[in-house]
Amino acid sequence: MSDNWTEQELKAAVEAYVQMHSNEANGISFVKKHIYSKLSEEFGRTEKAYEYRMQNISYVYSLMGREWVSGLKPAKNVGSKTAAIIEKLISEAEGQTLPPIAEFESQVISYKLKKKLSKPDGIKEPEKTYSNVTNYARDPKVKAWVLKEADGRCECCEADAPFITAEGEPFIEIHHLRRLSDGGSDTVSNAAALCPNCHREIHYGINKSTLISAMYKKISRLVHE
Ligand SMILES: [Zn+2]
Ligand SMILES: [Zn+2]
Repeated sequence: MSDNWTEQELKAAVEAYVQMHSNEANGISFVKKHIYSKLSEEFGRTEKAYEYRMQNISYVYSLMGREWVSGLKPAKNVGSKTAAIIEKLISEAEGQTLPPIAEFESQVISYKLKKKLSKPDGIKEPEKTYSNVTNYARDPKVKAWVLKEADGRCECCEADAPFITAEGEPFIEIHHLRRLSDGGSDTVSNAAALCPNCHREIHYGINKSTLISAMYKKISRLVHE
């Protein structure tokens, strides 16, 4: 996106997106076209331009390992600076601060695209940064119950835990089908025990939506939230 969007316009687009995202999660219906036409009236760009911008916002959600609004396939030509601004605006609109990753990860992708990337010096003493990140208080009994239920195996691929931890436990992670950051509950009907590979794939994989629907089918205790 080479044309200049003011932060105010970007903010309005992100706010509209966050509203759609939350409506979708809560089963509230909405018409995307109406949202674009409202933005179009306010800022004077075509509806198509807003649809495309929404797909850029989906791309930032996908970098964050989150679900995006269905039908708005991530469009990745968004610069790292814009990705960082969008991520910050998402945090503000959602009223939570998730660990910032969009700028870093989109920079990684663009450096990887360079034909020739000389071996970097890196940073000998990385600077400390501090941020106020939103955390969710979870119930240890929920994790314990789901882990007992899984009995050392991944509930997605059925494989055994890839290794035993130093504490002697099979290493299996907990994934919330509806993310806590999306308003999901910390209950056994929203949590699955996954091996690290399946867990990463369910957040970042190209076929994550297929995996997610398979989980709901396979694990009878799971309930769509
Ligand atoms: Zn697995
Ligand atoms: Zn997860």
